[in-house]
Amino acid sequence: AKADGKDRCREFDPRLRHEQAERFRTVERLRAGLAAEEFTVHYQPIVRMRGDATAGFEALVRWTPPGQDPIGPDRFIPAAENSGLIVGLGEWVLRRACLDAAPWWHTYGANISVNVSPRQLAEHDFTDVVRGALNAAGLPAAALVLEITEGVLVRSGGHAELTLAHLAALRAEGVRVAIDDFGTGYSSLAYLRDLPIDILKIDKSFMPDDATDAQQAAMVRAVVDLARSLRLVTVAEGVETAQHAELLRTLGCDKGQGWLFGRPGPAAAASDRLASEAAV
Ligand code: C2E
Ligand code: CA
Ligand code: CA
Ligand code: CA
Repeated sequence: AKADGKDRCREFDPRLRHEQAERFRTVERLRAGLAAEEFTVHYQPIVRMRGDATAGFEALVRWTPPGQDPIGPDRFIPAAENSGLIVGLGEWVLRRACLDAAPWWHTYGANISVNVSPRQLAEHDFTDVVRGALNAAGLPAAALVLEITEGVLVRSGGHAELTLAHLAALRAEGVRVAIDDFGTGYSSLAYLRDLPIDILKIDKSFMPDDATDAQQAAMVRAVVDLARSLRLVTVAEGVETAQHAELLRTLGCDKGQGWLFGRPGPAAAASDRLASEAAV
């Protein structure tokens, strides 16, 4: 009864109604955009902290409605998730990324990381969708990293077991699983225990604003040490400065991603990067 009253209030709050209408319009435009092929995938390098060779790329979706500037995923992924459209969009990104990354893997051994939303993992055919994308691109499972967030089990809509079964099946085939944005949720440690993962991506909020701040550095150290004790590969996100990189090298972090190493760019830029690295 209490929930009822709350719902009724929401319905009559004009500000919320406006938000709802806005969200509905966004979803309709996303749906049309998907049909009209207005999406592209950009790639951001993930480099080895020892040396600084490119180990792989993360696929990041972009949306460019005709006549407009590209819109970042933070502005449309939430609407795509709430509406379920993320299932189709996510599959499209996965297939596109595998196709683009096939030559990078075969020529340079660079892998490809793709973000996966909880809604996708709650679909019955997700394992087959991933196998299909790999097969279509001629990529082995070992070339693919799936990035999931701490919320995958909570936000699986009651499909936590199915989610875990997909992850187990794919890992058994050689796909690796990364936990994204680590450290931003409520109960990160419990998720480390419950989720079958191989890689831990340290959220960019952990990168110190001030390189001399011992407390901030101690936090990064704690996460890197924790990951190592669990035998997880560590990837630091938001590496923006040479000081960040130096700290991560000192702490033994495996890989880094951030503006210092390269911004997300089109597939051709990723190909060029690998080719010029190999030429050195
Ligand atoms: P994310 O997975 O944490 O991706 C990293 C985000 O950090 C990207 O933003 C990237 O451009 C940004 N970034 C990279 N280096 C730096 C840096 O040095 N400093 C700072 N401040 N930021 C940096 P982007 O591309 O806007 O993506 C935002 C989020 O959208 C992603 O966060 C991810 O959660 C989501 N997303 C992107 N593509 C997809 C997708 O295909 N499917 C799903 N489900 N989510 C996606
Ligand atoms: Ca990610
Ligand atoms: Ca992240
Ligand atoms: Ca994020």
